[in-house]
Amino acid sequence: MTLVNIKPLYISSSVQELVEKHCSIGDIDKHYSLFNYLSTSNNLYKQAAQYKSEGDLEKSYIYSIRFCSLLLEKLPKHPEYTKDVNKKSINDLKSKANQILSELESVKSVLDKGYILKVKEEERQKELERIKQEKIRKIEEENKRKLEEEKKRKEEEQRLREIEDELNQSIKIDAEKKKKNKDFIIDPSFVPPPEKEKPQPKLPPISLVEIPQDFATPATPATSTPANNIVKKPNIDSDEASKKYSKLRTINVDFKMFEDFMRLSENNTSRKIETCGILSGTLSNDVFTITTIIIPKQEGTTDTCNTIEEHEIFEYQLEHDLLTLGWVHTHPTQECFLSAVDLHTHCSYQYLLQEAIAVVIAPRSNPNFGIFRLTDPPGLETIQKCKLKSFHPHPPVNGVPVYTSCNHVKVSSGKFNGKVIDLRNKK
Ligand SMILES: [Zn+2]
Ligand SMILES: [Zn+2]
Repeated sequence: MTLVNIKPLYISSSVQELVEKHCSIGDIDKHYSLFNYLSTSNNLYKQAAQYKSEGDLEKSYIYSIRFCSLLLEKLPKHPEYTKDVNKKSINDLKSKANQILSELESVKSVLDKGYILKVKEEERQKELERIKQEKIRKIEEENKRKLEEEKKRKEEEQRLREIEDELNQSIKIDAEKKKKNKDFIIDPSFVPPPEKEKPQPKLPPISLVEIPQDFATPATPATSTPANNIVKKPNIDSDEASKKYSKLRTINVDFKMFEDFMRLSENNTSRKIETCGILSGTLSNDVFTITTIIIPKQEGTTDTCNTIEEHEIFEYQLEHDLLTLGWVHTHPTQECFLSAVDLHTHCSYQYLLQEAIAVVIAPRSNPNFGIFRLTDPPGLETIQKCKLKSFHPHPPVNGVPVYTSCNHVKVSSGKFNGKVIDLRNKK
């Protein structure tokens, strides 16, 4: 008999357990005939034989033990056991019992080995089951986690949708409010379209010393030369530089004054000598107006111009109740820009008054008229700290140029009567 032919063990885990739990039989009841017990014994034997042939060693073992126990231990106590009539039957059964007993030890050995394997297999199966259950548990946890994540995600999406809906509703309500109140809302970013630029009056040709008719008569047609349209240097304007413009008070200036100034400068301009003047004016309702250009005593060169006898300027301003609002000078041969020397000159003006402007008139250049100021920051501080003299570069600071065109100056022509006072011949 080999283990290959037997069925898997399924009743017990050991032969001892099999015997104790399943093989015991009760004592015989003497009221039953011996024949009944012999029949029972034979049934036990046949079952043992049948199960053995089917490979079910456990049941075969159980019935074998019961058979032998009944036949060899219990039946001898029956009153009819010794009757001759029963001897043949008893002997036949005893021979079968002997055959079984002769094989029982080998069956027990097979069962022992089988139970060892079974226990190991059960332990292996238990371990496999434990691993399987662990996997299932993890999968279930993962599924649960995913479900919770999905639930949270959907809740978050729902929450965002609600916020979006609220926002859209709010925007819609605001838009409706604005629509209702549109007549009363001033858009701070609104910029009126620029006035159509009119041709500016031609400055007197440098070669001519005569005063052209245009400048001599009060009937000069009104012209407008918006400063912003006159000089546009690449990158000279920047958001950073123009941040303070909104805080700057407006300066009104009439272009006709500069025509008069140029007329009075012609003698210098024709000799390629710079001319300078002091822009003076008034403050009313938070708006400056340049009313007077004072041409002081001065020493000019082709690229510099220095005032002398400056007390005369101050005396005139005191007498006429004028503020200093900036300065103007010519560039007879150069382009329209602020040189390093000009920047240092203007620094003192802008330090005095943040709205102070530097007007440059460059008759031979195009553009020929510019209104500038130092950026603040960084231009004003940069020039204040610069101790260099004469002409030297002032590169942009962190990409911001040190000076820029002005946005706070309104240039008109013929709107008000400004005047040019020439102190150069004052004694
Ligand atoms: Zn200059
Ligand atoms: Zn400098």
